[in-house]
Amino acid sequence: MIGEPGLHFAEVSVNSAAGRGQLFTYSVPPGLAIAPGHGVWVPFGRQTAQGIVVGLSRISAVDSVRPVSALIEKEPVLSPGRLSLAEWLSSYYICPLFEALALFLPPGFVRKPVLAVSISENVAGLDEKDLDFDSKKAIEIIKKKTAVGIDSLQRALGKAMALKAISRLEEAGYILRTFGISPPRIRPKTETAARPATAGMPERPLPVRQSALLRYLLNQPEPVTQAELKKEGFSRPLLNALAEKGLAVLEQQPVVRRPFEYRDIQLTQPLQPVPAQRAAIGAISESVEKSRPDVFLLHGVTGSGKTEVYLQALAKAISLGRQGIVLVPEIALTPQTVERFAARFPGKTAVLHSGLSPGEQFDTWHDLKKGVYDVVIGARSAVFAPLPHLGLIVIDEAHEWTYKQVDRSPRYDSRTVAGQLAALTGCPLVLGSATPDVESYFRAKNGAYRLLELPERLTPHPGAPMPSVEVVDLREELKTGNLSIFSRSLQENMRIALSAEGQVILFFNRRGTSSVVQCRSCGYSVQCPCCSISMSYHGAESSLVCHRCGLRRPVPQKCPACNSRRIRFLGLGTQKVAEETAALFPGARVIRWDSDSARGRHAHEEIMCILRRREADILVGTQMVAKGLDLPRVTLVGVVSADTSLGLPDFRACERTFQLLSQVAGRAGRGERPGKVIVQTYSPGNYAVQAASRHDYSSFYEREMAYRRELGEPPFSRLIRMTFVHVNEAA
Ligand code: ADP
Ligand code: ZN
Ligand code: ZN
Repeated sequence: MIGEPGLHFAEVSVNSAAGRGQLFTYSVPPGLAIAPGHGVWVPFGRQTAQGIVVGLSRISAVDSVRPVSALIEKEPVLSPGRLSLAEWLSSYYICPLFEALALFLPPGFVRKPVLAVSISENVAGLDEKDLDFDSKKAIEIIKKKTAVGIDSLQRALGKAMALKAISRLEEAGYILRTFGISPPRIRPKTETAARPATAGMPERPLPVRQSALLRYLLNQPEPVTQAELKKEGFSRPLLNALAEKGLAVLEQQPVVRRPFEYRDIQLTQPLQPVPAQRAAIGAISESVEKSRPDVFLLHGVTGSGKTEVYLQALAKAISLGRQGIVLVPEIALTPQTVERFAARFPGKTAVLHSGLSPGEQFDTWHDLKKGVYDVVIGARSAVFAPLPHLGLIVIDEAHEWTYKQVDRSPRYDSRTVAGQLAALTGCPLVLGSATPDVESYFRAKNGAYRLLELPERLTPHPGAPMPSVEVVDLREELKTGNLSIFSRSLQENMRIALSAEGQVILFFNRRGTSSVVQCRSCGYSVQCPCCSISMSYHGAESSLVCHRCGLRRPVPQKCPACNSRRIRFLGLGTQKVAEETAALFPGARVIRWDSDSARGRHAHEEIMCILRRREADILVGTQMVAKGLDLPRVTLVGVVSADTSLGLPDFRACERTFQLLSQVAGRAGRGERPGKVIVQTYSPGNYAVQAASRHDYSSFYEREMAYRRELGEPPFSRLIRMTFVHVNEAA
């Protein structure tokens, strides 16, 4: 559309708190080649603001329009496909268009308008004697520069004083307000490189070192960076001297900041697929080839070879000159997954996540747009990666909750966005999971998705059995007088595993525990009589509240089911579990892993290393231990309490429990020795616990769907969460 005659007006989404909700019309100055997707500078009120062009037109709906000031970058930042996806996102999730557009922009692109002040030209005629102390001080600061940002005045004078002084000075005509834009936070990085200016050595003699440097440069095929010259013993002053004589030319070369070094990674070859894998790879490849936006649900237990299917389907897309996006729930927790992609597509695999430095994100984004990489792996926001020819999207562990952004606007679900992206770009989407959410499985059975099953575990060998699961009834333990958090069976099995030099994982799900009230004698937890979900304890008003319908009840003093007084909060933490473990097994080395004890980018790798080097025997952890840990020496997994997730006040609590238990169970027996899992619970008869203990997805699915149908919950209805926030209570 660039240069098309007659398109004189641009519809622009402006980055300004006042204008985020609507589009503004600007005229296009003659000669400015503008297209939808371009980033532009536009006048906005008294300021200059950033905007994204979303459309062009011949006519303007408003009479007086101002012209676009300039392009931010020569090329459009958004492709037409990404632009329409952002528009869809804005209308589907009801968020301002610019907020949706911002998801697709390069790191550091969005810049805030800033206010600055400068000395007015007619200041000479004014009398400074009338000014108060703060205003004089402000004038002193402003006089030193052409323009001073409000923030630096605020630092010097204090916030309130600075604002007062500014309005006084502006009124008196001493200063002018100017509107600017914050400087870019991230820029391309460059380094100085040198090349010889002539083809040979000059006739007049040079000092020895200069002559050595010039000779060195003449012998290099490419410009040499300053860092390399330093290694060769040539200093910067020496180089400058040569440049001043016109014998060497200094230039700036771009440096690419790469977060990932692939040097140590061994290239791997595709494995010979087993029949179920071959069928899956074939089906996905066909859709890739035909650019059909099919959605595949790839259902297979951990170790059934799903990753190998992704790798071979991606290879197909790459062979057609296209790229792939791979989403993983939490990239910091899955370094092994990332390595497997990098080993298959060496140098062509990019990683995008928030743990990268801004410079790394910036460079990776721009390289992705140029098509430098074949595959990008990242957490949910990688769905916005600017790949030029998208061929395949893969979402691993597609049932995970982390794919939904809940903490800030736009509150998008990357699975839904991926589905839209696939439809818009004509590429297939693969949802992989050992424990699909029933809504997805329902769609697969319905024919809306295509179901691909991998029924067999391939590790440590094809047909390897799933670990055996024992469900322990904690009520029985109490009857025998065992008040410890470890049942007799769990203690016994830990002893056996440790004496055989196996490792043990104790899983403890703390999420929501402080809000659930449960009877220690019979396991009863208070449920809402209308909604059949657990009621939450609210300390402030000391009552139980149903988060679904808002019903309030007092906290019972005695258990309504068995009259026991031992009704209490499950306020147990991993630290307590670790302490009790250490007390019971004094000879064992216990480490703890939860969000308090493990922070930072490398915490996961450190824990893995400690366990791999066998420097610890027992790992106590929260849901994190359920993800991606591949430790062949783990022979026993103990679930301290399955009830904490069952009691979550959410209609998905049982589904979540089934998923967690299945995932945790998958951590055992990954080596040659068979694994065992012990699940402790007050609700041994619960269908989610039962089905997970038998590794039986379909019986779980049938029961769960029956409940959902009865209660009219998704997929038999759609739920929308609306939150309204206002500073004024009356509003
Ligand atoms: P998932 O992603 O379902 O957990 P993986 O793809 O990681 O499963 O496969 C589990 C293990 O089985 C891995 O060690 C992998 O190398 C191996 N594997 C996968 N496919 C095959 C195959 N076709 N032949 C032999 N081994 C395989
Ligand atoms: Zn009770
Ligand atoms: Zn209720």
